[in-house]
Amino acid sequence: MRYAIEGVKEQDIKKQDTKKRELWRRLLDLLYPPKCPICEEPSKGFCPKCALEAKYAGLLYQKDGKGQGSRSYEAVYAVFRYDFVASGVYHLKYEGKRDYGRTLGQLMWQEAEEILRSWKIDCIVPVPLHAKRQKKRGFNQSQILAEAISKGLGIPVFPEMVLRCRNTKPMKDLNALQRQNNLKKAFKMGQNDVKLKTILIVDDIYTTGATTDEISRLLLEAGAAKVYVLTLGSDAEDGSALQQGGYL
Ligand SMILES: [Zn+2]
Repeated sequence: MRYAIEGVKEQDIKKQDTKKRELWRRLLDLLYPPKCPICEEPSKGFCPKCALEAKYAGLLYQKDGKGQGSRSYEAVYAVFRYDFVASGVYHLKYEGKRDYGRTLGQLMWQEAEEILRSWKIDCIVPVPLHAKRQKKRGFNQSQILAEAISKGLGIPVFPEMVLRCRNTKPMKDLNALQRQNNLKKAFKMGQNDVKLKTILIVDDIYTTGATTDEISRLLLEAGAAKVYVLTLGSDAEDGSALQQGGYL
């Protein structure tokens, strides 16, 4: 009986907390009306115009299936085409608009829910920034996306499972050999004994695939069984670019 009463109390507290959170959210919405992360018009999520113009990417790579080249991860799913989300990524990364990151993360979750559930993921690891860069920016954009996806999927995020120990140059400016050298020892494990079997790496933009491949290799070496990759945007619409010689 005592437990039953305690149970009821616990439920009531939870209800009150939800009510408080809801009121707080409404107040914040009044003070700072949510905006479309692409064009910045007032809207919750994409505005009707951007929703209509949205360009989707999809499954870029699947081991023994779509896309060629040898990768350490099982599959890569990019939600949007880069040209469509580019302005959203810019507002988030360079103008510090974290709320857009949360909106974009929720949209990633909505669009990719089916495939994410089919992957049976145990936890999420965002692509890390170097500590200096993260301090300068104040946040890691991939972590904000990962946290929104984690809420939807109901699994934890481990932002410090992998650490970036070297600041790397932008991959788009380098050739294939320079890319490989650029990533050598760029990452290390923040924790060495990975007990979780299936890990999802979340990144903002998938360009060369080399960064996520390097992180995936580390996770597998540390004990993960399978690694998948989810990104907000990508230059490639399908696996075709992968077939032109390894990395995108
Ligand atoms: Zn819009």
